Amino acid sequence: MKHTVVLIPIDTYEQSRVDEAVRQGVSLLGGMEQFISKEEKVLLKPNLLARALPQKAITTHPAVFSAVCRLLKEDGYQHVSYGDSPGSPTTTPAKATDTCGLAAAAAAHGIPLADFDGGSVVHFPEGHTAKSFYLCNAVQQADAMINICKMKTHALERITGGVKNLYGCITGVNKATGHAHYPNSEVFADMLADLNLCVKPRLHIMDGIVAMEGNGPSSGTPIAMNVLLFSADPVALDSVFAGLIHLDPAAVPTCVSGAKYGVGTMDFAEIEIITPEGTISMEEARAKYGNPDFDVFRGVMKKGLLPKVMPLLPFLQHRPKADMKKCIACGVCEESCPVPEKAVHAGHGQKAKYDYKKCIRCYCCQEMCPAKAIEVYRSPLNKLLGGK
Ligand code: SF4
Ligand code: SF4
Repeated sequence: MKHTVVLIPIDTYEQSRVDEAVRQGVSLLGGMEQFISKEEKVLLKPNLLARALPQKAITTHPAVFSAVCRLLKEDGYQHVSYGDSPGSPTTTPAKATDTCGLAAAAAAHGIPLADFDGGSVVHFPEGHTAKSFYLCNAVQQADAMINICKMKTHALERITGGVKNLYGCITGVNKATGHAHYPNSEVFADMLADLNLCVKPRLHIMDGIVAMEGNGPSSGTPIAMNVLLFSADPVALDSVFAGLIHLDPAAVPTCVSGAKYGVGTMDFAEIEIITPEGTISMEEARAKYGNPDFDVFRGVMKKGLLPKVMPLLPFLQHRPKADMKKCIACGVCEESCPVPEKAVHAGHGQKAKYDYKKCIRCYCCQEMCPAKAIEVYRSPLNKLLGGK
């Protein structure tokens, strides 16, 4: 069975061009009605990680979001709403949508903000790793979701795209709790795969016109990748993103877990890539639209060695590190740390101070730091012991 990913090349956020590209992308995938019928309640789920201006490439660009809104409205979809739960529990969805430019785009199309403030526990006994989720009301109330994700690097999962973007379906503070329950990249990815099975978005659209490389998902550098990707399979979508940046999907935990749990495929032999010029292979897509120099963590950690070096682990592992010159002592890192006794302390005049023995390497602090002061320190000792 083929898992289709549509790739539309586009090098601008000019609204009319993005409108055209989104319409073409959905059409090449078979048309919107293939995925959602017009009577259904549709929820648009962009990436609203933080209050950030569109040009920072932290959030889904409003031009892409607006193009999806326009397409739905022009095609006669009446029951459309949108939203996301930002990473920091102190940032409300309303504040984030305003700064990111999505509130204005939604208002222009008469699309209301759905309830991402409240939620409740949804049991999911079919889950392989996660048997329940604290899902936002908006997600529970919708019939169908369109996941409009952003092409970015991620400190924990290497990249974030379709599979990872669903974490914003979990309400505010419960996201931090989730990091404590699923405390490494593999088990966290397993949970995300279950979340995808539970929520089952019908369509995934990735904004990769300007992506983020380096210290993502919030402190990296915007970089033009000049593509929009479309798929009903978030694993195939993320795998094509990985392919474009010359990264093996097998090195991306969310692709591995997604394939393992049947969310989708990361096997390029099963992925059909369609462009406006016709179907192409991953090799051709990589050569034509890829970037081998995209700054993403490409190393590995040999897990078999870990038990032998347990006492040294806090010093051998990669870890978050704050640059004291950039730190403004705001305390956001401490607030976002999911460890109950906190592995980082800051605020009230005190700059970030880590206790690596308590740190579970979830990188929530790095994700949320508003001053881009936190980077992931890749330990050279790790490399000596078999990592790259
Ligand atoms: S969030 Fe960043 S700027 Fe704020 S205290 Fe922590 S390291 Fe410093
Ligand atoms: S200090 Fe940072 S990386 Fe460590 S557990 Fe807390 S939020 Fe996660």
